[in-house]
Amino acid sequence: MSVIAGNWKMHMGPAKTRAFCAALRLENVRPEHELLIFPPAVSLEAASTARPPRVQLGVQNVHWEDEGAFTGEMSASMAREAGAAFALIGHSERRHVFGETDEQVARKTEAVVRNGLTPVVCVGETLAERNAGRVEEVILRQIDAVVPALASARRALVAYEPVWAIGTGETATPSDASAAHATLRARLRERLGETTGREVVLLYGGSVKPANAGELLAADEVQGVLIGGASLDPGAFAAIAAAAPPRR
Ligand code: PEP
Repeated sequence: MSVIAGNWKMHMGPAKTRAFCAALRLENVRPEHELLIFPPAVSLEAASTARPPRVQLGVQNVHWEDEGAFTGEMSASMAREAGAAFALIGHSERRHVFGETDEQVARKTEAVVRNGLTPVVCVGETLAERNAGRVEEVILRQIDAVVPALASARRALVAYEPVWAIGTGETATPSDASAAHATLRARLRERLGETTGREVVLLYGGSVKPANAGELLAADEVQGVLIGGASLDPGAFAAIAAAAPPRR
């Protein structure tokens, strides 16, 4: 089973969301794969009514409090009430454009889990960090920050998204993705143990397209992909999902 997730970022209002859903053809996608989209919050209701039943919904960000004087923010409990089952947390644009810290990412993840949503925590190094040989150090620091929150989750997704590969057309090689995932998997095993009933699914993200999805999805340890740009096109999103290999 692979998870195919589309992060729409600040694209697609309600009308475009309805058009996307109407145009999505999933006949060639194997039934075991799980499909998620993360529309802007204002398009959640449109997505919720227009989506094909097998497509699940998430939000792109939440606040760590359930309610309060936080103008412009949205809580995990509100997202859930509005139809979201997943929440992206710590996307590189949140970390690097909006200055989110590991501590805030941890608090948000805790709020998501507490409210019964499945967190999709994003981690990944910048180009400078990669060039300095700090990939492992950075992604381990980012994953360690959320381990206490993940300890109480029944299910969580972690997306390894090297910042230099997001929206740039540059993609990590399948072996780079496998290596980062193996590092994350080992750390999660060490910190969380093999608790029966808990599942942590590891995704790769960074310029995933129909042309490279097959080899990335077949890479060792890669259990799915998080797609930005290509997920805005229903044909490309469906083609990426159709490239996911059969159940492994
Ligand atoms: C993303 O935003 O999570 C992403 C991976 O973007 P893109 O596919 O456009 O690189």
